[in-house]
Amino acid sequence: MSTPVFPVNPLTLILDGCAVVTMDGQGSEYAAGHIVVTGNTITAVGPGSPPASLANPAAGGAIRRIDASGCLATPGLINTHHHLYQWGTRGMAADATLFEWLTQLYPVWARMDAGIVSPLATAALAWLARTGCSTTMDHHYVFPRSGGDLLGATVAAARQVGLRFHPTRGSMDLGASSGGLPPDEVVEDRDAILAASKSAIEEFNDPSPQSMLRMGLAPCSPFSVTGELLSDAAQLAREAGVRLHTHLAETAEEDEYCAEHFGCTPVEYLDSLGWLGDDVWLAHGVHLDDAAITRLAATGTGVAHCPSSNGRLGAGICRTHDLLAAGVHVGLGVDGAASSEESSLIGEVRQATLVARSASGPRAMTVRQALELATMGGARLLGRDNEIGSLEAGKLADIALWRLDTLPHAGIADPVAALVLGARPPLELLLVNGETVVERDQLVTVDEREVAVHASHASAELAGRR
Ligand SMILES: [Zn+2]
Repeated sequence: MSTPVFPVNPLTLILDGCAVVTMDGQGSEYAAGHIVVTGNTITAVGPGSPPASLANPAAGGAIRRIDASGCLATPGLINTHHHLYQWGTRGMAADATLFEWLTQLYPVWARMDAGIVSPLATAALAWLARTGCSTTMDHHYVFPRSGGDLLGATVAAARQVGLRFHPTRGSMDLGASSGGLPPDEVVEDRDAILAASKSAIEEFNDPSPQSMLRMGLAPCSPFSVTGELLSDAAQLAREAGVRLHTHLAETAEEDEYCAEHFGCTPVEYLDSLGWLGDDVWLAHGVHLDDAAITRLAATGTGVAHCPSSNGRLGAGICRTHDLLAAGVHVGLGVDGAASSEESSLIGEVRQATLVARSASGPRAMTVRQALELATMGGARLLGRDNEIGSLEAGKLADIALWRLDTLPHAGIADPVAALVLGARPPLELLLVNGETVVERDQLVTVDEREVAVHASHASAELAGRR
């Protein structure tokens, strides 16, 4: 694996006249400012127009200047929990609890293969890009025996759409006959999982700076994997230098499951298996008591907050205000599209703001805090906060440019409030690693209509398989 090679005299791109919210450590914002990008790197951010020396590079490289007036530039958004394949099972079990929803969908997912996953992952990634996401993780945990190279299909899709990708090799080894929730037909043997995980890291992980792909390991949840697998996966991940992820403390039923099977809370269970640390981030974290929050903060363990999915499944409301107050790193996730049909990352920013205030009062989360969850918060969870998550000279050019001068937003006093509380704005430009992925609200890397047609066919084929 290698990072892209840029020409000797790379393109210099100048965004001029936009509002800029940098999400840097000082909270720097400019009502009218500029961003200069050279190749895949941000070379300047500031108020007013760019200095002439930056705007007219002498090295002979080409310059593209974009009049960005009427727009707001933010860091590209970072999605920290997703299951791309679930794009094909949206709208099913629409009024179910988590355990009911899983029980209904496991048999459908058991019939997928790489030919199905490829168009579904492409569609999920394409919609993430259209909603301002420049980096996403994927948690793929269902590997049917005759499914083919499912991880390879998602990696190819991410390359095609052009997103920075943090896939995780997920897994389940605790079937119903052994006391788990999933049917035996969708679980794998532990040794096979560990071997496949090792191979996936060797094949796909690029640990180099500016990487477009970093692997992680992600056994699925306390009720679908064994403690032995959790321990072994943690050891393998740490030997390989990759991060760990799992679902945790999502529902009250999971709390009951852990009390009954392990005699402790979900966080105590993970703690007993060596699964807390600054290389671990957990999806959901809805049902956390004060002791659990203290322990997550002390260990540097992160939480991927997925407010739409939690609402869709009636799981509860994550204590984001308390997590942030305790110093826990929190990012945002759309979660799989089967439990979050909107799957819009900017939509999750709005949702996170509203549910935090509904649960904990009007000061529970500011609009800027919510945007930080989707930018620097996500970058910390993925271990990339020195490279992405804010607009600063030297960081990678992952930038979202939102148009705020059309009907839904024109005249809103604060551009950050317009972005977070208003309708989803047109995305004027999405740069990932300096490359254009979306322009004028249209994908430029793939044909959006074709992607939709292929995903629709794949969903129908999956639903019809027996
Ligand atoms: Zn999930």
